[in-house]
Amino acid sequence: MRLLRDDSFDSGNARVGTRFWIYPQPPFIPGYEQPDRVWLSIQRDEIGEGPSDLSMYVADPLYEKQPYGFANLPPFVGTKRAPVRPGPDRHFDNIDPTSRPFLAVHAYACVRFVLDIWQSYLGRPVRWFFDQTFPRLEIVPFVDWDNAQAGYGFLELGCSDVDGILRPYALNFDTIAHEVGHLIMLSETGVPAATSPGGDFFSYSEAFSDCVSLISLLHFDSAIDRLLRRTRGNLLLYNELNRFAETSPETQIRLATNFRTMSAVTREVHDRALPFIGAIFDTIVALYHRDLVAKGCADKRLLDVDLRDLAWDEFDTFRQATEQAFSARPLSFKQALVGARDAVATALAASLKTLDPSTLRLDQAASAVIAAADGPAAELLAENFAWREIIGSR
Ligand SMILES: [Zn+2]
Repeated sequence: MRLLRDDSFDSGNARVGTRFWIYPQPPFIPGYEQPDRVWLSIQRDEIGEGPSDLSMYVADPLYEKQPYGFANLPPFVGTKRAPVRPGPDRHFDNIDPTSRPFLAVHAYACVRFVLDIWQSYLGRPVRWFFDQTFPRLEIVPFVDWDNAQAGYGFLELGCSDVDGILRPYALNFDTIAHEVGHLIMLSETGVPAATSPGGDFFSYSEAFSDCVSLISLLHFDSAIDRLLRRTRGNLLLYNELNRFAETSPETQIRLATNFRTMSAVTREVHDRALPFIGAIFDTIVALYHRDLVAKGCADKRLLDVDLRDLAWDEFDTFRQATEQAFSARPLSFKQALVGARDAVATALAASLKTLDPSTLRLDQAASAVIAAADGPAAELLAENFAWREIIGSR
């Protein structure tokens, strides 16, 4: 009898993608100390050292580099660190997550992971808005700068300094996903020729990028599982006491569970983005809830009340019923959340092409998302955008 050699198993697996480690949240966040092993859809023979591929590459400066700006664009021409190579099996999960080269691999993996997700929602590849000048995105995993930015041909990541503890943004999935969100939006809507004074292009760009970050986080099984276990399935009741919002370790969820309406925000772009992000998250939660009721996992009276107006005793009754159903059927809850996430994300992605970036207003962006959504998602989006005063009540 001839034993199968390892590589004959391997050849059967040759086209299933490439393995990497990703921290769904930075490793200093409790509960997220260990990275998840992910399979990116890109094939091993399509990734070179760096990592690099046909649409992006890592350039890791050996010495200090000034952040990019108007007069200073890629490619980086200074001295670079040696490009990171994959392991003998051509996967990239052999790199020690505490090592310096890991920053390059992690930044690349996060960009690819987010791009994979949103290309899937769009149903086609994203063509970079700068591809006439630069064929590929340059990812700079570490610059000595307390910020992160994406722009014409680049995504570069600095490092935060909290009480002398340095935390590279290259390990921060939220930050990277948000920056990829900016690149996706510009690639889909085009760059505004000029933005009108009353326009909301920059506010919407922040809102969309935060939605990309939130929805992409919900693509880690580990993140969904933690969220559902921590709330015992009571995602739907989060907002009444704000109990899980305020204590949630995930930045994206703290941001998305806000109660701001348009009359309560300033013109500052991040502030003005909050009602839109809130409406998107509320819609995911509402759709999730609807599905749970349909499956007999939650009290159907919940569909008739505004959760924001619930009294404590009602809240507690609903909470207990959901909790019992969750302990019996956790998988139904997970499926409900995944379905809700995808329905809203697909509409969000499809709406981009219909927007005019030069004259864009938040109400137009909201109407475009509603128009791109199906049945119950469209109805719930309309309700939530109206509650946030982004569109008029219907
Ligand atoms: Zn931003």
